[in-house]
Amino acid sequence: MRRPVIAGNWKLFKTIGEATTLVNDLKVRTAGITGVDIIVAPVFTALSSVATATVGSNIRLAAQNCFWEESGAYTGEVSASLLKDAGCSHVIIGHSERRQYFAETDATVNRKIHAASAAGLTVIACVGETLTEREAEQTFVVIETQLQGALAGLRSDAVAGLIIAYEPVWAIGTGKSASEAQAQEVHAFIRSLLERLFGLPVATAVRILYGGSVKPETISGLMSQPDIDGALVGGASLSAESFAAIAGYSA
Ligand code: PEP
Repeated sequence: MRRPVIAGNWKLFKTIGEATTLVNDLKVRTAGITGVDIIVAPVFTALSSVATATVGSNIRLAAQNCFWEESGAYTGEVSASLLKDAGCSHVIIGHSERRQYFAETDATVNRKIHAASAAGLTVIACVGETLTEREAEQTFVVIETQLQGALAGLRSDAVAGLIIAYEPVWAIGTGKSASEAQAQEVHAFIRSLLERLFGLPVATAVRILYGGSVKPETISGLMSQPDIDGALVGGASLSAESFAAIAGYSA
């Protein structure tokens, strides 16, 4: 059985004080939730404070990005080992907003995944098609290209520990979620691709999250699908009430 994951991407929101208040509220609301990995991804500047606030709780910490080099003359970048140092256990890599606004490519995503895995972080690797690509019936081609690029050169045991987030770009921040059937269809495709590339045990182990306008009202239906192992949540993770309701979907 794959352990479900509910991860909150706080994007470019929340001061250190606001992030700490939010996670303290979340701690109380999610204290009784067992059997689910609950992860929050604040901005870099709040990581350390949120890490301190989560000590002793069941909430884990993710960064929203990392650089592939360990250290050096790379002004403005943050390495995977520094994220570990700040208290992160996870890192989101290849989010569509980074691909869209910061020239992230499958090749840079791949380098980052290698670096993060080597540093001992659990990677949440994001893939997803745009509306134009879906309407042109290119969804599977796009997902296959992104995944093959992202996972190139990784050993099977590293892939088995990954979390993959399927996030259709047209569903992110739009209020327009993929239907359960649309999401399941792509998740099943991703799992079959993983089997083809890395074998059945790896494909069975990898957790695949859905992301795109997930709300407390939609999470149970999504989680009832056989290949949906959790959610990457943006907007609804910015409130402790709605994120805790999503994390507690099975209660
Ligand atoms: C995201 O940022 O990864 C996301 C899925 O956002 P939202 O839930 O707001 O669509």
